[in-house]
Amino acid sequence: MSEIDIRTSFMNCSKGEAFRIMVPAGLEHLDWDRRDYLGWHDPKAPQRAYLVTWRGDEPVGIVLRRADPAAARARFQMCSLCQTPQPSDNVALYVAPRSGDAGRNGNTIGTYLCAGLNCSAHVRVAPPVSEIQPDPAVVVETKIAGLKSRLDGFVAKVDSV
Ligand SMILES: [Zn+2]
Repeated sequence: MSEIDIRTSFMNCSKGEAFRIMVPAGLEHLDWDRRDYLGWHDPKAPQRAYLVTWRGDEPVGIVLRRADPAAARARFQMCSLCQTPQPSDNVALYVAPRSGDAGRNGNTIGTYLCAGLNCSAHVRVAPPVSEIQPDPAVVVETKIAGLKSRLDGFVAKVDSV
């Protein structure tokens, strides 16, 4: 995925906004085989975040805004994409405007995500071998498949067209 692929993939912001997005450097060195999506925060505006994945062979990008942490929160929370339970500081509520008119009218989708936008790394951590689940590679495959399908579901929810 090149910078231009990424810029033209955003479905829930204007073209002008997409061309002002800070796209991470070093894209040509990324190992896409080990990622189900690329997620990053805007270094100048950390509340703003971006997630780019594939829909079939097409890159599709989503602009997100990190919501302020709620006052009272559970100690542990689960990311809705990779379903890794973790200390709640590591999980944040992100809000994505829906694509098209719905988003322009203020319609949004909220979801809890790993605050590091690093679900791809989480699902690739192999669990210790146990009697119930003897093959860690199978567990990792299953987790990757789950992440991909929930990612597809999230993309479909944001895409209101
Ligand atoms: Zn996650």
